[in-house]
Parts: sequence; C-alpha cells; structure tokens
Amino acid sequence: MSRSFYRDTWVEVDLDAISHNVQCARKYIPDAELIAVVKANAYGHGDAPVARAALDAGASRLAVAFLDEAISLREAGIDAPILVLGATRPEDVNLAAAHRIALTVFQQDWIEQAKQFWSSEDVLQLHLKLDSGMGRVGIRTEEELSACIQSLQSAPYFDLEGVFTHFATADELDTSYFVKQKERFENQINWLTKHHINPRLIHCSNSAAALRFPECRFNAVRIGIAMYGLTPSPEIRHLLPYPLQEAFSFHSKLVHVKRIESGESVSYGATYTTEKDEWIGTVPVGYADGWIRKLQGFEVLVDGVRVPIVGRVCMDQMMIRLPYDMPIGTQVTLIGRQKEENVSVDDVASYLDTINYEVPCMVNFRVPRVFRQNGKIVEIENLLTKQ
Ligand SMILES: *Cc1c(COP(=O)(O)O)cnc(C)c1O
Repeated sequence: MSRSFYRDTWVEVDLDAISHNVQCARKYIPDAELIAVVKANAYGHGDAPVARAALDAGASRLAVAFLDEAISLREAGIDAPILVLGATRPEDVNLAAAHRIALTVFQQDWIEQAKQFWSSEDVLQLHLKLDSGMGRVGIRTEEELSACIQSLQSAPYFDLEGVFTHFATADELDTSYFVKQKERFENQINWLTKHHINPRLIHCSNSAAALRFPECRFNAVRIGIAMYGLTPSPEIRHLLPYPLQEAFSFHSKLVHVKRIESGESVSYGATYTTEKDEWIGTVPVGYADGWIRKLQGFEVLVDGVRVPIVGRVCMDQMMIRLPYDMPIGTQVTLIGRQKEENVSVDDVASYLDTINYEVPCMVNFRVPRVFRQNGKIVEIENLLTKQ
C-alpha cells in the first residue's frame, strides 16, 4: 500500500482488537442483535473500517449520532442497517429514506412536519425514543406517546421498527437509579402494548448495561465503548465478563534532539527550566491535534521508558525530556505499548480528569489513522489529503 500521509504522527487502530471485542460480546449475548455504535468517527477510531470489522465479527446493525455520519458510512459502501440516535430535521426524511437510514423520533410535531415533507416512494424506518430518566431526548408521558402513535398510524410509509431508551448510570456501582430507569422503560413498553404496538426491536442497553444486566437485553443491545476495548467506567472494570482489548494507539517520532544546559528554559512562557544538563526531544504533536495543553507534565514512551512532557504543549509540537541522547526518528508512543510499558487511554483520561470516551475523540482529523489487521496495514485514512 502506498504511503498516504507525510507527517511523523499517526494513530494506529487494531481491527483485530475490534473483532475480538465484538466476538466476545456476540458469544456473551447470544440472543440479541448487536448494534455497533460508530458515532463520532467510531469514537475517533475511523468509522468505515471499524464498522466493517464489527459487522464481520457479528454485529448486525450500526448506530451513529446524526444523519451526516450515516451518509458517510453509506458513501463508504456500507450496506448494513444504520440507526441515527439523535434528532434529525423533518425536512431530511426523504434523504434518510433514500439511503435506507432509520431515524429516531420523539415528538408528534416532528412526525406531522415530516409527513408534510414526505415525497419519497420508499419506506422510512423509525425508532421511538423513550426518556426513562436520562432527560436528554425522548417521550416522557403516555399522552405524548399516544399522540405520536396516532400521527404514525396515518402514515403507512413510516415503519415503526424499534423503540428504545438510554441509561444514565449503567456504569455506576450504585444501581438504584438504573433500576428506576429500567422499571420506567418496562412501564413505557406496556403503554405501547396497550396501543397494540409491538416494534420488532426493543433496545435499551449501552455497553455497561449489556455486560452487566442480562435482564436488560430485550432483543438488541447498543455496544460502543466496549467494542473499542475500553471499560465503560473504572469502577466496573472488575465486573466485566471478558477481557477487552484496546484498539487505539497514538504515535509520533522525534524530529529534533538537543542537549540543553542546566538553568535553560523550554517552550512558551518558559515554564520549565532544566535542573542539570538535559537531553530534550521535540515531538511533532500539539494541541491542534487534540493533544491539549493540560497534558503538560504527563508522560509518553520512548525506547520503552516513560518520560515527561516538559514545558507548554504548543499548537503543533511539544518537548519531552529524554533519558539520554536518542536519534532523530525514534518512535514516541503517546498512547499504547512499548516493550514492558503501556500508556493506556485510561491513563490519559485520569490525568485529564475526564472519561476514556473523550480521549480518542480528542485526537482529531489532523492525525491520520492506520488500520491493522492480522499484523498488516490494511487501510490508511488521512482526512487532510482525503487519501
Ligand atoms: C453513545 C451511545 C451508546 C453507546 O454507549 P457506550 O457506553 O459507548 O456503549 C448507546 N446508546 C446511545 C443512545 C448513545 O448515544
């Protein structure tokens, strides 16, 4: 494969890890459809290659946040059913139908407006979103639900394929709020049954719920974070039923190495001053890649050892303190393994006082993605050169 990026900074996505994580979920949850959640460019990993690996490993559907993300998958040639989890504009219903993309609905007004815009010969699949306690989008009352059902009944071209809700606390050890949401959802499903509505798909579990609460699987589960090999939260790590494999790693190379005398400073603001003669390496990664300034003081790996990021992180570059003189071109690992050492996505999240979900999403379009399968590079995505 020809080289399609020209900077010494890249992300590697291990598609075998994605396959492993999906196959484990497939075996552990044999009776429900697996919906692979690939929103936000597959949590920063790269949507189309991750979607293909997930579908090959046993997922039967995909989910994204908004219509553009779904169309992007269609344009990459992906044929599987796709559900948009968030809101879509009513004027875009024909576009969704043309691409066979299922939409989420939760307002009668929306359905009425969508009927006005409808001009397609196709059928549009819809999933009804119920708010059981997340407080984000969704129907809360039986009145709202009846109104939506009534509006749908005079629109045979809208096919109510599914109904779902989303948990706010499935990743917490304290299950009280989770239980409350689950009971509300069951009650909401009863409202539907009362109206003789039995959608083919009922789904409520994200990764945490799917892996912890078998009684919550219904006939489909939505797996996001666990597919990427990351735990939904550190506090439930010990409850996971199988070992996850992290798919995301982040690398660069030294582009400059120099010896700096004791008492000299490094980077903007001169916030770091050497205490003795030190070897300082420059790495071509910065906050404009998503490697934010708060990471000053965090560690990266070179030659299998942890070394600190010294001085402020610049827009496109940062400096690290090397244990000894190292050659230009030495690989620097920001996330991932070198020899016996590992910097995990969770380590970065913990340093930044955030959740692991945010970390691969932070590493943005400036950083090309290299996809590996069976040890070989199978695809490279560079959103800058579109190669
Ligand atoms: C993002 C998302 C998911 C996936 O959640 P994970 O915790 O990553 O498994 C599932 N459902 C909805 C509605 C989401 O927005």
